[in-house]
Amino acid sequence: MRRDDRAVTDAARIREIIAACDCCRLGFCDGGRAYIVPLDFGFVEREGRYTFYFHGASEGRKIDLVRKTGWAAFEMDTGHELIRGPMACNHSARYQCVMGGGPVRLLERREEKEAGLRAIMARLTGRDQWEFDPAALEKTQVLCLEAEELTCKVRA
Ligand SMILES: Cc1cc2nc3c(=O)[nH]c(=O)nc-3n(C[C@H](O)[C@H](O)[C@H](O)COP(=O)(O)OP(=O)(O)OC[C@H]3O[C@@H](n4cnc5c(N)ncnc54)[C@H](O)[C@@H]3O)c2cc1C
Repeated sequence: MRRDDRAVTDAARIREIIAACDCCRLGFCDGGRAYIVPLDFGFVEREGRYTFYFHGASEGRKIDLVRKTGWAAFEMDTGHELIRGPMACNHSARYQCVMGGGPVRLLERREEKEAGLRAIMARLTGRDQWEFDPAALEKTQVLCLEAEELTCKVRA
């Protein structure tokens, strides 16, 4: 990171920022062109390693790209605030941002799909005990991204 004074390496702070983000953008390489899609997400953190979960319909461009590429970049951010100044060039913005990438796959087994959906529900609602309608679960794709790269940058 060029501005390494803005890099965040404290594990608790990174987790706090991830938890505060509203959505996660997944970036795929689609035949040499970028495809970015915003999604709700859930996550599980084990000893600083993050697994992110996403869900959606069983068809569509992102699902095709997960199958085709097996790898996605991600980006999420929060805490935007304009810092005003006397001139245009004196303006700036506060933000908190996490980026990275890693292998992404579609979950197949019912138990792992439910665990991914619980992680999403836990982040959205603060509650992780949920039951899922088997018919709806069947039709839902759950994506799992293991973050191999993850950096966090904060402009305070
Ligand atoms: C904050 C937020 C959270 C979301 N959370 C979820 C989620 O948890 N699960 C989920 O499945 N979807 C979610 N969506 C919708 C998501 O962004 C996609 O629209 C959806 O997942 C379909 O993606 P796809 O790749 O299958 O596109 P397809 O349905 O295959 O569509 C293909 C084309 O449609 C256009 N397109 C697709 N999505 C968008 C979009 N969001 N905006 C503008 N153009 C678009 C693009 O040109 C794309 O190439 C969310 C959207 C937002 C803004």
